[in-house]
Amino acid sequence: MPEIQKDQSQNKVLPSHAKVVVIGGGVVGCSILFHLAKFGWKDVVLLERDELTSGSSWHAAGQIHTISSDPNISRLQSYTIDLYKEIEEVSGHSVGLNITGGFYLASTPEWYDYLKRERSKARYMGLNQEFISPREVAERHPLIDPKHYHAALWDDQDGDLDPSGATYAFAKAARVHGAEYFTHTPVTGTKQRPDGSWDVETPNGMINAEHIVNCGGLWAREVGHMQGVNLPVQPMEHHYLITDKIDAVANHPTRLPAGIDYEANIYFRQERQGMLLGTYEPKGTPWKVGGTPWDFGHELLQPDLDRIADRLEMSFERIPAIGEAGIKDMINGPFTFGPDGNPMIGPVPGMKNYWCAIGVMAGFCQGGGVGLTMAEWMIDGEPSIDVWAMDVARFGDFASPDWGTIKSTENYERRFVMTFPNETLPKGRMQKTTALYDRLIAKGALMDQSFGLEHALWFADNPEDAWETPSFERNRSHDYVAREVKAVREAVGGIEIANFAKHEFKGAGAREYLNKTLAGFIPKPGRITLTPMLTPNGKLYGDLTVACLAEDHFMLFGSGAMQDAHRRWFEKDLGTGFEKDLAVDVVYKNVSDDWHGISLSGPKSRELLSRLTRDDVSADALKFRDSRETYVAGVPVILNRISFSGELGYEIYCKPQYLLRLAESIEDAGADLGYRYYGARALMSMRLEKNWGAWTLDFRPDFDAVESGMDVFINWNKDFVGKAAAEKQKTEGAKQKLVTMVIDIDGIDVSNDEAILKDGKAIGYISSGGYAHHLQKSMAMGYVSIENVVTGTKVDIEILGEMYSAEIIGDALYDPSGAKIRA
Ligand SMILES: Cc1cc2nc3c(=O)[nH]c(=O)nc-3n(C[C@H](O)[C@H](O)[C@H](O)COP(=O)(O)OP(=O)(O)OC[C@H]3O[C@@H](n4cnc5c(N)ncnc54)[C@H](O)[C@@H]3O)c2cc1C
Repeated sequence: MPEIQKDQSQNKVLPSHAKVVVIGGGVVGCSILFHLAKFGWKDVVLLERDELTSGSSWHAAGQIHTISSDPNISRLQSYTIDLYKEIEEVSGHSVGLNITGGFYLASTPEWYDYLKRERSKARYMGLNQEFISPREVAERHPLIDPKHYHAALWDDQDGDLDPSGATYAFAKAARVHGAEYFTHTPVTGTKQRPDGSWDVETPNGMINAEHIVNCGGLWAREVGHMQGVNLPVQPMEHHYLITDKIDAVANHPTRLPAGIDYEANIYFRQERQGMLLGTYEPKGTPWKVGGTPWDFGHELLQPDLDRIADRLEMSFERIPAIGEAGIKDMINGPFTFGPDGNPMIGPVPGMKNYWCAIGVMAGFCQGGGVGLTMAEWMIDGEPSIDVWAMDVARFGDFASPDWGTIKSTENYERRFVMTFPNETLPKGRMQKTTALYDRLIAKGALMDQSFGLEHALWFADNPEDAWETPSFERNRSHDYVAREVKAVREAVGGIEIANFAKHEFKGAGAREYLNKTLAGFIPKPGRITLTPMLTPNGKLYGDLTVACLAEDHFMLFGSGAMQDAHRRWFEKDLGTGFEKDLAVDVVYKNVSDDWHGISLSGPKSRELLSRLTRDDVSADALKFRDSRETYVAGVPVILNRISFSGELGYEIYCKPQYLLRLAESIEDAGADLGYRYYGARALMSMRLEKNWGAWTLDFRPDFDAVESGMDVFINWNKDFVGKAAAEKQKTEGAKQKLVTMVIDIDGIDVSNDEAILKDGKAIGYISSGGYAHHLQKSMAMGYVSIENVVTGTKVDIEILGEMYSAEIIGDALYDPSGAKIRA
């Protein structure tokens, strides 16, 4: 049984004020407390309703590893593991760390492929991972029957620890650095004062805090409710077992390595003289959907062997000694998942000074990295690496508690299930749809969900034909996407653009605000510009299209997924409506859901548009980068002459209630022009042919304007956020740069994060790519070290373990002068 530790040093009086109050003394809260204090914020306090570790932290299995689907989360997991020695030394409290190394076992060719991708990532991340044969697996871990496996990926950083010890070590090390924590001090209320600070209520007194951090773990939802915040996380029941003594374990000269078998859905490690084995069953059991009771203490749940029987059967075949040993303990404990399985951390959009670090489902692998990131974010204003994969802002209003339960359960069930690059997950779908949903489905659309909203990926001939098998390789959608690209490049196509973000700025101060906030040129009325948005440290925080509808009225178009993060960014300056006395003459609103629309692209798009409007849309009357409010198909629209396909094109935004009218009219008017709908896959293919990067892939806060090439859009003759840093980057020169490559390959394309090598040495990695259907080439974009940024440089790209030669190209291979888009 896991042991509960107690802290006897709690008879101090609560302070009346703190810079930060961290709510919750699990591993995550304690790590945040430690990092805040270590980085210089001493006036920080953690409040725990019971003993430390009183949520899920005390009964964790304590297994630690670096592997994660997101490279930056992997980096932070590696940081977390390295940190344990430090907190042990600082605190004097043992974390019971055993770095045994560990393996990820591939029992099918698909899992072997998956691990080859992980190996490729590890190459450029500098993580020490190598493949070993089944025979070597058995040599390192004699309990494993090697006949089930093709290979294993070995990581020598993996191992296990004592979860309670680690949590206490974080807390005590935080104290050494000047922070304080109080146990048996439940937070019963959080009330915000007009100055934005918080009164944190407890039975032992009240603390006024500048910031609060919700680290409530199993009670994250309840802590959120205190301030009307609905967080889409869900505790899930989870089993692991501990065997009796196994002689082969007891007699083994060294501690046995840890392991994960994906197909069997199990993880395992040595526990004293026996083994610990945990499993993610295929049908997850959400725990306390209605809310976690406050009186839930250091309790475990009733184990249900039937639920995990098939998993155990498989694991007993693969590690027979576990099946033969008696079971000493069976643990069923709850822990909290988020909708995509990654943590939800950072400032909560729409709130001031309210932070959260919740849904951390692998707290002992990720807790250190979460603490580091939160402390950087709170103290420095931004994390040092892109943590989009953990940002709470990736879920907006659509992520209701019900949706959260559905998706978190799906994620639990898929914890060790491979997700292919072309795969769309089935649960929680149709959460948000547009008026075109049924129409596009009827036309054969295969849909995916982005920021809760359904959008078409590609179109088959009919609904029955709209399917594809999850795969790393090109698949049956390939020819359909090719057809869509052909329609756009040769005639005219239409894509729904409801899923682009739209941000509206109004007021006499809008231009001045945007000039300061955005690094690029702010357009005159009726015109459009593209501009990067930078953080104060000069990192990319947006690539936005700015349309000036009137001198005091602007619309910004950007990444749909980032819309709440951008909203949070703008509201930090302009207020959330909470600050009554904030004297700004600019009013901001995220109006993404108020504007749906269709983008027309292709050489015949002008002809099609002219049939739908009384406006003169000839090349001289409606120029490239013009914007106007007008009527198309008899409905009021914002009409922008731009396109992401590289063709002559128009974005037509209308209010959602007009979308069906607009779409029907376009279809009717375009029938004889070869009009066809196209989806996101075709769009992503066409933008590759233009060397255009995409947000969350090629453009993100890991990179600056110079590295990404976005500096060409900067207006250096004005003051803007991040200017000093950007100037420094420009003067000093970039160490890496975004390049486009053509790969000599057939049947498969990159699926992001592959290593780019030269002479066997990793020189960068792929940020995006795919098949360029018009050019009929496999293409990719990626960041490579500056000395390799030379047109014609030959590199190797590692795809599924094979090296493919590729060449760095200079100008776009399609319409490099931009004549088509300007036609
Ligand atoms: C069976 C099992 C096995 C696991 N195995 C592993 C593993 O091998 N490796 C791994 O990395 N992870 C593992 N985990 C997951 C790990 O336990 C969690 O990721 C981690 O505990 C989350 O920590 P936390 O701090 O976010 O939440 P919690 O541990 O739930 O902590 C939240 C804390 O907040 C306190 N709190 C809540 N509300 C208030 C309030 N109003 N006022 C004051 N205090 C409050 C609670 O009392 C609690 O102490 C496992 C989990 C389970 C259940």
